Amino acid sequence: MKVGVLALQGDFREHALALETAGAEPVEVRRPEHLAGVDAIALPGGESTTLSMLLDSSGLRPALAGRLEDGMPALGTCAGMILLAARVRDGRPDQRGFATIDMTVRRNGFGRQLESFECDLEVTGLTGTVPAVFIRAPVVEEVGPSVEVLASVTGADGRTSPVLCRAGHHLVASFHPELSGDVRIHEMFLAGAASAVGGDGRK
Ligand code: GLN
Repeated sequence: MKVGVLALQGDFREHALALETAGAEPVEVRRPEHLAGVDAIALPGGESTTLSMLLDSSGLRPALAGRLEDGMPALGTCAGMILLAARVRDGRPDQRGFATIDMTVRRNGFGRQLESFECDLEVTGLTGTVPAVFIRAPVVEEVGPSVEVLASVTGADGRTSPVLCRAGHHLVASFHPELSGDVRIHEMFLAGAASAVGGDGRK
C-alpha cells in the first residue's frame, strides 16, 4: 500500500521509516500532485499552526481536504491529530484543519509541568504495553459517538483523557508512535487502511 506522508514540516521522516518498517511504501507529499496514487496519508507531529500555513502556501489544502472527504484513511499524530480534529481549543485564530474527526482537542493541553513525558500505554487490541512519547501534546477533551478510545492517560490532576482514538479507518494519537521504534500503531493503521481500500491494499 502506498501511504503518503505530509512532508511540509515536522517529523515526517520518522513516519516514513515507521511505515516502511510496517510494510508500506511511504511517499512524501509536498504538492497536490504527490497525492495521486496514494491510498492513505500520515500527518506528522510538528507544529499545527505552521502546518496550517504551509498547507495554504503549498496549494495542498484543497487537494488533501478533497481526498479526506472521499474517505482516504488518515493517521494523525500530535500536530497531525490537531489538523484532523473538528474542534481545536487554544489554537491560533487563523489556524485551520480538516475537521475530519468528531473530537475536541486543546493544543498544548498537558500544561507546563507535563510538556514532555513518556509512559507505557495499554492499548485496546495490542498485547503488553506500547511506549508513548508526548511532546507539547494536545489533550483530547471530547469525542463524538463515532470515535472509539483505544488508550488513555491519567494526568497529574487526576483527569483521564484519551490519547489514541479510532474513527472509521482514521487513527489519531496525541503522542508520537513514530519516535518510539515500536511500529505496532502504524501496523494497526495500515490494517484498517487496507480494509478501506480493498483487501490487498489496492483500490
Ligand atoms: N504543540 C504542537 C501544536 O500545537 C504539537 C506538538 C507536536 O506535534 N509534538 O501543533
